[in-house]
Amino acid sequence: MKRGIAVFFVLCLLAAAGMADFKVLTTFYPMYILTQNVTEGIDGVSVSNMAEQTVGCLHDYSLQTQDMVSLEQADALVINGGGMEQFMERVLSIRSDLPIIDASQGIEMEPSIEEGMLNAHVWMDPEMAAVQVRNIAEGLAAADDMHADQYRANAEAYEARLAALSASLAEQLSPLSGTRIITFHEAFNYFAERYGMVVAGVIANEPGEEPSTRDIADTCDLVRSLDIRTLFVEPQYPQTAAEIIARETGASIYTLDPCVSGTGMPDSYEQIQLENARVLREAFGL
Ligand SMILES: [Zn+2]
Repeated sequence: MKRGIAVFFVLCLLAAAGMADFKVLTTFYPMYILTQNVTEGIDGVSVSNMAEQTVGCLHDYSLQTQDMVSLEQADALVINGGGMEQFMERVLSIRSDLPIIDASQGIEMEPSIEEGMLNAHVWMDPEMAAVQVRNIAEGLAAADDMHADQYRANAEAYEARLAALSASLAEQLSPLSGTRIITFHEAFNYFAERYGMVVAGVIANEPGEEPSTRDIADTCDLVRSLDIRTLFVEPQYPQTAAEIIARETGASIYTLDPCVSGTGMPDSYEQIQLENARVLREAFGL
């Protein structure tokens, strides 16, 4: 009898160890933060991000060995979608059975400056990020029915925080309505549009590649013709081109963060966006 109980408990422990983890994999930092909020505090659900990237956005990222291992073990993959993950064919060749959650489902994207591509940086608009949160929750609920209610409740709470963030950004940035800005790459278009600003140009057409001498000269012309005084660089990319343009035109340089790296804490996206608002106000003397 005693032995029977002991065996029963051992079997329970083994079952718990084997079944406990529903492993969610995300493709890059903003998806990691959004998904972390959707899964926060749910027992037996874990989130990990694909190999730490030093490249900022995923543009031109190719899968690393560690990513292959993570993909083998994952129970669901959360992607930004809109063409940001150019390695999806490879993913499907490794794991054709893996549930893929496209966070941008139903979000209409603008064309990119890269021909034939979409501008997929929708997470930079907190209100679009909230739609992504809802999509992630629904995707996880479908893939892991057992925790469906918890995913949805977490998503609702996070969506409320994102709505509060957006209201705060709108208030802080309202004096900048109509302001034209030049950013490092096309990561800030949806953010700018949400708060009434205009991205007049970008320094790098293809992030990860150094802008050509021609690109730099064109940006200098644009800065002069629009009388732009400020250039915005990104912490994940080199400033060399911006420094040349600044020297040529007398513009100053500030840093805006496209939320593609950070502390890894659940409030990281909100903290980065509030800092972006602070920098924008400072850059325009508010
Ligand atoms: Zn990007």
